[in-house]
Amino acid sequence: MEKTNWRKSSQVKIDLLIIIGFNVGMFLIFSSMDMLELIVDLAEQYEEWEIDEIIPLFFTIALSLIIFSLRRWSEMRRLYNEVHKLSITDPLTGLYNRRHFNETLNLEIERSKRTGTQLSIIILDVDYFKKINDIQGHNIGDRVLCQFSSILTEVTRKIDTVARWGGEEFIILCPHTSLGNAEAIAEKLMSAIHDFEFDRVGKITATIGAVSACPDETSASIINRADVCLYKGKNNGRNCITLDNELCE
Ligand code: GH3
Ligand code: MG
Ligand code: MG
Repeated sequence: MEKTNWRKSSQVKIDLLIIIGFNVGMFLIFSSMDMLELIVDLAEQYEEWEIDEIIPLFFTIALSLIIFSLRRWSEMRRLYNEVHKLSITDPLTGLYNRRHFNETLNLEIERSKRTGTQLSIIILDVDYFKKINDIQGHNIGDRVLCQFSSILTEVTRKIDTVARWGGEEFIILCPHTSLGNAEAIAEKLMSAIHDFEFDRVGKITATIGAVSACPDETSASIINRADVCLYKGKNNGRNCITLDNELCE
């Protein structure tokens, strides 16, 4: 998406340069021809052509075209922003989607390499969510997912990226965060989930995995390690936080 933005802005610059170049060229031609004097002569010579009425009309036509273009431009920008928002958002919860999360993670990995700061990932999966759907119905299941998402956005920081990874699984990217700090965020999340009364369902629990990225580690590998933690938590009875404490090579 960033690349597309860059291409767009460079295209605008090229178009502006062409317009400026064309008009400077036309100005030089007009001044070498004494254009206005020529027009005045023509207007006097051929009164019936109505040249002196037509010229001001050119200005109003040009002004109308400028207004028309500006309105189309702002319309295009609004549409672009809407489409962009749709392309990065999960329609049910309003959180970021998996694609945007992956893009952000890759950018943050690059940034953390440059700045030498740590980066962590927290992954969450609602426990026994299928039962909620089976007992209460899909609509209540959807509402639980939305309420769960609100907890995640409320508890996390502005710099964190919260996304729906798929189904009842969520993922949080925490830049400038050590494993210890990620654990503290995971504990906050855990207690917020425990405290919340979900509509028609009451209390629910979630299993959480957290990892800190190793230097030069790929996004796929970081996510895979987080997934392994989640899997271990599920096997250990759910409703718990599992950290990947292994040291980087
Ligand atoms: P576990 O504790 O092992 O995670 O069990 P679980 O029941 O939470 O996990 P499982 O993978 O067995 O079931 C997940 C369910 O989530 C199955 C699927 O129908 C449901 N689900 C996935 N996406 C949505 C959604 O958008 N809305 C609703 N209501 N349900 C969904
Ligand atoms: Mg689950
Ligand atoms: Mg799951």
